[in-house]
Amino acid sequence: MEPTITTYEYSYITQQVNNLVSAYLSVNDVKMRGVVRATTLERIVPLLPVDDPLAQTFVHGLQPDRLTREAAAKLIGMIEPLVIPFPQLTTKQLSKLFRKVKKLKQPEWGSLNLHQLTYLGWNDGGNQKKYLVAPYEGRLIGIQGQFNPETIKGLCAICHTIGNVSLFVSTTKTSGLGTYTRNGNYICRDSAQCNRQLTEPQALTDFLTVVRPKR
Ligand SMILES: [Zn+2]
Repeated sequence: MEPTITTYEYSYITQQVNNLVSAYLSVNDVKMRGVVRATTLERIVPLLPVDDPLAQTFVHGLQPDRLTREAAAKLIGMIEPLVIPFPQLTTKQLSKLFRKVKKLKQPEWGSLNLHQLTYLGWNDGGNQKKYLVAPYEGRLIGIQGQFNPETIKGLCAICHTIGNVSLFVSTTKTSGLGTYTRNGNYICRDSAQCNRQLTEPQALTDFLTVVRPKR
């Protein structure tokens, strides 16, 4: 079976299952729990491949009236092979995306779960920089920016969730006269966390449209 679930759909499914577990823990009325379960399934089943044994076992696992966090995490992990992972890029591919960067700090691939990444983002703390690689108009683009070391509680421009964010400033236009147009946005400090909160692609596309360099 070829993977068919996108990473942001996977984040959405994960979020929905976690909400279901929370409802199981907080709602005493058995009928109400049934309603929440039905709504959850209505939302996530259309995202799963039809007639796939893993997907069927997953849905079956959500049927009981009680589900622990551990059991839910196991179920979510079970459908990971059905998710299209973010591509593992070579150093060469990355340097092509960031031609102007002399010594590009590499992402820590070992610590990343590629099935949970709609975009790749990593920090170069020493240089107060953040790098993003994301799909845009059918290809991967690289965006770099100054990343303020200060973290505040605020709304992230990528995942639209309130959390620990820092100011990301990218240069969107360079003129021949040495003048720059810069654009600043608050985004999640931790891009892995941001990806887990990114449940639809439009927010990311809108962000990229604003911050990508223009000619
Ligand atoms: Zn975010």
